[in-house]
Amino acid sequence: MIIVLKENPDPSQLDGLISWLHEKGLQVHTSTGESHIVLGLVGDTASMDIDLIAALDIVQSVKRVQEPYKKANRKFNPEDTVIQVGNAQNSVQIGGGTLTIMAGPCSVETEEQILTVAKAVKQSGATMLRGGAFKPRTSPYSFQGKGVEGLRLLSLAKKATGLPIVTELMEVQQLEYFEDVDVIQVGARNMQNFNLLKELGRQNKPILLKRGMSATLEELLMSAEYVMSEGNERVILCERGIRTFETATRNTLDLSAVPVLRRLSHLPIIVDPSHATGKAALVPPMAVAAVAAGADGLIIEVHNDPQHALCDGSQSLRPEVFDTLARKLSAIHKTMRDLEKMEKAS
Ligand code: PEP
Ligand code: MN
Repeated sequence: MIIVLKENPDPSQLDGLISWLHEKGLQVHTSTGESHIVLGLVGDTASMDIDLIAALDIVQSVKRVQEPYKKANRKFNPEDTVIQVGNAQNSVQIGGGTLTIMAGPCSVETEEQILTVAKAVKQSGATMLRGGAFKPRTSPYSFQGKGVEGLRLLSLAKKATGLPIVTELMEVQQLEYFEDVDVIQVGARNMQNFNLLKELGRQNKPILLKRGMSATLEELLMSAEYVMSEGNERVILCERGIRTFETATRNTLDLSAVPVLRRLSHLPIIVDPSHATGKAALVPPMAVAAVAAGADGLIIEVHNDPQHALCDGSQSLRPEVFDTLARKLSAIHKTMRDLEKMEKAS
């Protein structure tokens, strides 16, 4: 249920309303917009009398929220969520009109590799460094990532470039090694690992939540809800392609997910054209399309020697290709923002 308050509500009446809702056993999520405060209620609201609340002086309207996700729901939080990553010197904003470009290799391999790629992508305008240390691989015989050593190398690259890092966590026990990680990635295969999601809900770091390869958008939002329900509201949604009957691409990039999620949720949306297509040649056009569709950012695999990459070489861009793409993306993003401004003004 959501309660939209009239403009400038009387503070003591507002306090009174919130205390009463708490007494009823409900959690109250307050969102302050430009003109209105919205109270989102989580809990058993079935027995609440809508008319009684609607009759209060400070209340403009009351609505029941049909969707099973509440905190992730745009109705609860009409304004876009903006997530701040990194420290004072290297602060990155995700959402709120900026374009975030996360780039780096599928997996961290060597010190030379991660430093070379990190420096190159930084030079091209990437705002965050990606790189897997713990890798979820389809085959147990494939390279499984460098683990804790991989995280150490990521930290070195962060120190050398200032780029905040995003890397995947596969199980709760790995958390102790993630102190220097700026954004924790939950991979597609773990999107419905509910115990993991709940634990990440108790952490004080943003979570990049990738859509499961057979998950609906509602299921993705319910997974975000798992994290948020435990208190961590800094969740970033990631569309990374879903499994369909098509075999020409590794997955099928569902770009309509971007405007759909934008309507349903206030959380920032990132697109991963690398895992979605599986082919380096297809990454630039789909990355451009994602920005045109309104994504808040991209996560793109880049490798200095794709042919010898230990993982996902065929979908990794060479640094010079990424450089050209990054320029294009920033131009498209600017054009999209200008067009939006024109639309608003007309
Ligand atoms: C990755 O980003 O390294 C990865 C494994 O992606 P996904 O979980 O989307 O397959
Ligand atoms: Mn990969």
